[in-house]
Amino acid sequence: MLEQTFLLDQLTDLPADEVGLAVLGYPIAHSISPQLHEAALEVLAEKEAEFKRWHYRKIEVPPEDLHIALPRLAQLGFRGLNLTIPHKVDVLPHLCSIDDRARAMGAVNTLSWENGGWKGYNTDGVGLSRAIRQAFHRSVEEFDVLVLGAGGAARAAVAQCLFEGCASLSLFNRSVDRAEQLCLALKENGLKQEISVIESFSAPFENTDRPVLVINATSLGLQVDDPPPVDLDYFKGDTCVYDMVYNPPVTELLSQAKRNGFSWANGLGMLVGQAARSLEIWSGRSVSADAMSRAATSAMIGR
Ligand code: NDP
Repeated sequence: MLEQTFLLDQLTDLPADEVGLAVLGYPIAHSISPQLHEAALEVLAEKEAEFKRWHYRKIEVPPEDLHIALPRLAQLGFRGLNLTIPHKVDVLPHLCSIDDRARAMGAVNTLSWENGGWKGYNTDGVGLSRAIRQAFHRSVEEFDVLVLGAGGAARAAVAQCLFEGCASLSLFNRSVDRAEQLCLALKENGLKQEISVIESFSAPFENTDRPVLVINATSLGLQVDDPPPVDLDYFKGDTCVYDMVYNPPVTELLSQAKRNGFSWANGLGMLVGQAARSLEIWSGRSVSADAMSRAATSAMIGR
């Protein structure tokens, strides 16, 4: 079941005692979320046998079928869902309720069946912040933050850094108008803190004594020959670089960070952090990120 990709039409009623969890996306075959969740569920089941009946699948759902999939999956016995590309924003009108922070971000990646309807949460931001703390032993509020990108992942990163009171926030995206739209959307959703949109790099953060955190939330780096989204030679010593990309594990941006002697980490920690937070929401238990990390590492080695 870990490797299998299900189509909606292939699914039948779950056994009455099973609690169904799943990730929905299009495409979804590449997802390693089932390995992460099954590993953490095994740990939970060692203490509480009921978690032996919880299982996590990956289900391919094209965008036009999302509105059919959500009630259908609830009917079949699914109680927790993760959403990935392209569903995180389009799902909003189909939800019964939305957690306040997810509403401010304008995107959800986690659904929980509560009081007869799907409630939306966003655990990407919490996952990112846990990963940053673990990788750099610092909290977001200590940094001047630069987010690269203006898509869904950037939106979660910017909102989370603002929620956590980062010292300053700058945003750089290939399409400046998209970066400006992101700022506007977050403002409309109640996040009033200042965001500086950077249009070109000359000597950013030259005058700060604080450490700088660069977060890559663009899709540059997913292909092995992709150039870095910024030239890290512009940055000085106390810089930490977090790349949301985790496959390949070392992007050109991270290679440059390494060469410059900066602290760096790839996006596997965020993947684990968001998964752990989702399972905490569904189970009401604290969840072992260690078991998920081990599963993530071995799933990536197996690719
Ligand atoms: P989107 O498609 O919503 O956004 C893509 C972003 O990348 C846009 O800002 C786009 O800029 C930029 N971009 C794309 N191609 C280029 C290019 N050639 N040069 C410069 N910029 C480019 O994607 P998401 O926000 O959903 O995801 C972004 C990344 O984050 C992906 O790599 C994804 O895998 C990763 N991610 C990782 C997670 C984790 O748990 N580790 C969780 C979620 C996402 P423009 O606006 O100009 O088009």
